[in-house]
This record gives sequence, structure tokens and C-alpha cells, in this order.
Amino acid sequence: MRRLKFSLLPGIWFFVFNFYLFAGGQPGDENKKYVLVIHGGAGGINRGDITDSVKKLYLAGLEEALKTGEEILKNGGSSLDAVEKVIRYFEDDPQFNAGRGAVLTSDGTAELDASIMSGIDKSAGAVASVTRIKNPISAARAVMEKSPHVLLAGTGAEKFAEANGLELVDNKYFITDAQMNSWQKRKAALDKKGTVGAVAMDMNGNLAAGTSTGGMMMKMPGRIGDAPIIGAGTYADNNTCAVSCTGWGEKFIKNAVAFHVSALMEYKNYTLKEAVDEIMLKKLSKGDGGLIAIDKNGNYYMEYTTQSMFRGVVNSEGKKEFKIWED
Ligand code: ASP
Repeated sequence: MRRLKFSLLPGIWFFVFNFYLFAGGQPGDENKKYVLVIHGGAGGINRGDITDSVKKLYLAGLEEALKTGEEILKNGGSSLDAVEKVIRYFEDDPQFNAGRGAVLTSDGTAELDASIMSGIDKSAGAVASVTRIKNPISAARAVMEKSPHVLLAGTGAEKFAEANGLELVDNKYFITDAQMNSWQKRKAALDKKGTVGAVAMDMNGNLAAGTSTGGMMMKMPGRIGDAPIIGAGTYADNNTCAVSCTGWGEKFIKNAVAFHVSALMEYKNYTLKEAVDEIMLKKLSKGDGGLIAIDKNGNYYMEYTTQSMFRGVVNSEGKKEFKIWED
């Protein structure tokens, strides 16, 4: 009898181990599972507001951003690299409100904010109110990896970025004709709130999140939104989730939205969807914005209470979609 029990043991462990992998496993499993969710901002765009060709251009931008990040994740790269690369792509694409093409302050200049966070150890970096760093998200990553600080602002951040080999440009580089036109017409109300963000889980189960923006159209010079505030616009913790937000920054700061989602999961055992709904639907008001999130098991959720949110998802199970509105 004893012998029989003993000989069954290896088989039982084999079964348990395989079930564990099949069920999604935990960080560090090398289970070949990855997920990437991106956003290009929540805003007030109705279907009739943009032509089919403009819509196609936006969707092409989202598709390209997803491809850039997936390439990294499917080859075993880190979620942090995927998030940074996706956001760099968006910063270079003038259709989105980050880097080149960012919305302008009331003075007609571009002031950019960005942050990035690793779920492994909650290390984080951010830059705020920068006017010359071509890719603020890479400067945020440099702050995280090469400085003892979390958030650098203004000229100090620019000097730090330059010293770390990042490209500086004249502020004019960020100002596209389209943004100058809406600024001249003071069309703040019609503006697309197109901040960009990405959250990812890599094959090691590590989570990362990042957000980058020009902020709100016609903002006061010096105004800093939620995007570079860890816990407001961006948060990542391997024990819970990764979150990137977009919308009315002041509301997201006051409600510590990104951390709130993580805290509800950690302290109250909420699922990702329950946590996001609690904050987006109960604490914020309709029209305030949206967010994208992934939990530690690779479940993802995208929620917005505005008319539209540019967004997309790709994962190792063959899911790939990008959208502006509900179907
Ligand atoms: N949240 C950004 C800010 O307030 C704006 C946006 O997401 O569109 O700066």
C-alpha cells in the first residue's frame, strides 16, 4: 500500500505542474504568454466627426504601435521595453497628443509629461513640463534607471536627458500645423484628448505601464497633469495590475485613479474589471476619460466614459484588435 502511494507521487506532481501552467501560472513561469494593451487617448470624437480616411490613419497608427510592441514581446523581450517602444512610436506620430503633434499651452508652446513603471519592484520614472526632449518616455525611463529620483521637471529634466544621450529638439519640432491651427482658433472644446499609453505583460509574467502626453489643450504654462504622476495616470505592480489613464488629469490626480485600481485588487480582492468599474463609474463622472489595464494573470480591460477612446490589444492567444468606438 505504502509503495503504491509512493509510485503515484511523480504522476500527481506532473499533473499539478501542467495544470498550473495551463491555468496561466505566475510571474517567472516562462509560460510564453504575453499581452499588450495600448491607448491613443480618450476624447469627444463622434463617428461623424472624422472622415473615413482620417479614421483609417488613426487605426493604422494604432496597428503599427501594436506591431512595434508585439515584436518585442513575442521574441521574449520585456514588458518595459515594449511599453517604451510603443510610446516612442506614438510620440513620433503627429496624430496623437504626445511628442510631435502634442496639444499646446495657452502660450502656444508644447509642454510634455510622461511616466513609466515596472511591476517587478515598483521602480518608476517620470518627466514633467519638458519642452525639448524628443521622446519624453525614454527620459522617464532614464530617470527610473539612472537617477535616484522618480520625477524630474523642466530644464533639470532636459539637462539630465541630454547627459544620458537622449535627443533634444527645438520646441517648434513638436508644433504641427494642425495643432497651431486649433490653437489659433482657440478650439480647445473640439480638441481630441489624445494622450498615449501602454500596459504589457511579458513571457516572464512581468507587468509594466507607461503614459505620455502634451496635456490638456490651452492648459496654463506650468500645469502638470496625471500622466507623469505615479499612482494617478500610471501604475504597475506584479502583485496586482498595470494601468495607464487618459482624460481630465486633475480628476485622475484627485482620485489617484491608477493606484486605486491596484489597491482595490490588493486590499479587497476585486477582479480587474470590478476595480476599474468602481473607480471609473462610481468615483469619476461620465466624460472624465478612460484607462487600459492588465492584471497579473494577463486579463485585460479597457474602460472609457467619453465618446471615444483610441485603443488596441494584442496577445499570445491570437487576439488582435484596435478600435475608436464600441462596435
Ligand atoms: N490626462 C492628460 C492630462 O490631463 C490628458 C489626456 O489624457 O488627454 O494631461
